[in-house]
Amino acid sequence: MTEETTLSIVQGRRTWRAVDLSLESDLFDNCDWTDSEAVTASLAASLGDRSEAFGIVGSLSAYAPRSAIRCNGDEEPATLLLGTGLLLAPGERMLVPRAGCVVSHERGAVVVEHEEANGPLWSVWWGLDTPAPVGSTLMQGDELGTVHADRGDDGIGPLVQVQTLRRAPHLDDLDRRFARPSEREHPELLPGDLFDLIGERPPILFSKHLTGPAVVALRDQRLARSQRAYYTRPPRLVRGRGVWFYDEDGFAYLDSINNVTHVGHSEPRVVATAERQMRKLNTNSRFNYEGIATYAQRLVATLPAPLEVVFFVCTGSEANDLALRISRQVTGREDIVVLDGAYHGNTTAVMGVSPNRYKGTGGRGRPATTHEVPIPDVYRGIYTSEDPDPGASYGAEAAAIMARLVAQGTPPAAFITESLMGTAGNIVLPQGFLPAAFAAARAAGAVCISDEVQVGVGRMGTHFWGFQINGVIPDIVTMGKPLGNGHPMAAVVTTREIADAFDDGVKYFNTFAGNPVSCAIGTTVLDIVESDGLQAHALDVGTYLLDALRDLKDRHELIGDVRGHGLYMGVELVRDRGTKEPATTEAKHLSELMKDNGILTYPTGVHDNVLKIKPPMVFGRAEADLYITVLDDLLVRHPHG
Ligand code: PMP
Repeated sequence: MTEETTLSIVQGRRTWRAVDLSLESDLFDNCDWTDSEAVTASLAASLGDRSEAFGIVGSLSAYAPRSAIRCNGDEEPATLLLGTGLLLAPGERMLVPRAGCVVSHERGAVVVEHEEANGPLWSVWWGLDTPAPVGSTLMQGDELGTVHADRGDDGIGPLVQVQTLRRAPHLDDLDRRFARPSEREHPELLPGDLFDLIGERPPILFSKHLTGPAVVALRDQRLARSQRAYYTRPPRLVRGRGVWFYDEDGFAYLDSINNVTHVGHSEPRVVATAERQMRKLNTNSRFNYEGIATYAQRLVATLPAPLEVVFFVCTGSEANDLALRISRQVTGREDIVVLDGAYHGNTTAVMGVSPNRYKGTGGRGRPATTHEVPIPDVYRGIYTSEDPDPGASYGAEAAAIMARLVAQGTPPAAFITESLMGTAGNIVLPQGFLPAAFAAARAAGAVCISDEVQVGVGRMGTHFWGFQINGVIPDIVTMGKPLGNGHPMAAVVTTREIADAFDDGVKYFNTFAGNPVSCAIGTTVLDIVESDGLQAHALDVGTYLLDALRDLKDRHELIGDVRGHGLYMGVELVRDRGTKEPATTEAKHLSELMKDNGILTYPTGVHDNVLKIKPPMVFGRAEADLYITVLDDLLVRHPHG
């Protein structure tokens, strides 16, 4: 709702306001737009009883109650209001803005024919009671009817809708009150609006927002190109709720890739906590406030002994950077052992332990102090599930590297690993691998770091942290993404012994980390995971979806492998099951098609050929079914991607 201006189309009233009924509107911040009572209440709170100013909704603007899953082609939902919407009080007298003759009253629409210099113009009005009889001639300002009392079933009404046509309306036209966004491309085929009768179209009825393509263009101009966006035709997102995103046109997209918004997009309890704490206090961690201590205590309670001391940081990269620094300082060594294919973040130090980047496009190669264990991928690695004990075989590879480093006189400071590899391709580590690798690392005097940035906080279903599914206890745990449900917060947790050994007098200060707002949010996220039983839910839905994906694999050659644990899965696409040639372009194309059909998924992995599935934890069986239905359908239509 913005400015006010005047217009005389309603008896006794001139003031009106532009009303935005798209999901970008504040009206739907605390309102379920599928609940008509809630919509009515939100509109009433904003527009009052409509006696002060009435509301005008611009033609071809998104209409929240019509929001729907985006689908291709003919099934594209009609989410835009076609014609002007007038939000008035019931019983008000509607005046014609231009002289004309009433020609019909069919299908709940009053049609008026207006004579004009350049030929006749018809106006079509919905939502009027007691309309002027057919055949009556009206002068400008005469009463056309009174505003209908009916709210309709979406809670928006009473709404009078007005379209104009350059030809006499057919019966079909009288049923056509909403348009599909793609129809905007041919405005000449669409009816006009109230302002074709009035003359001037008030500028405030035009959206002030940039369209999706305009945002892409501005991004291209103003953002570094290396900060790439998903998709070649990305929708402009305006809202997230639960496991759903919504775009500027009211299309809904199922989010299957955001493990950051762990307990759901715009989770009301998280929002309320953040707002409440921001009103009271926010400052840095060198001040004394309760939340930092109690949140640290809560985090430690989720971990096994002896992991008991917390460093707060803001990002997963900072967490790993600090973990490397701690390891190097307490061991007095420099070398780090990593898993090939891994990604641990974006700082200079962690890029140096991320083969996924330094060996990828534009990568600068492996630093001399970094040493790679072969990627423990039982699908396409050097030991596959055909191997009698791939975990032990990969473990022996790790042990050989540690032994070589010791023999060379450059023993490792740390062994850093994810407990289920994310960016490398959602790779579940073979049983027995981490125990063997940790034992070898410790025998070499190295610190074992578990990077839980992707998979922690209950996502594994069977356990709260990923290392627990592998039966190991690390010396340092790094965590990030899900902790703050999108608020940037991360942590390093270690033993008292290591934390104290790191304290050599050099201060560790991090301006934003562990601030009162972050700690309040983090506490609420842990509360929700616990109170809503999200860990058990992840196990149930994850198992269900994994089974369904395995069924899909039996039916579609393009799927080479399906793997996962809890709500963290990967679907690896290959051109040939024998050669396992990665279906990289196919994975990208399929993701684009999935998006056009209302499902957000994206390729990851060393070859960018693995569809990643790591949705907000509130993703349910119904959403799993939808994901499967859409993927199945696309694979039938595009068996080669
Ligand atoms: N570790 C892992 C395993 C990650 O996947 C990522 C990010 N994708 C990071 C660390 C870095 O986290 P951030 O982007 O928050 O710095």
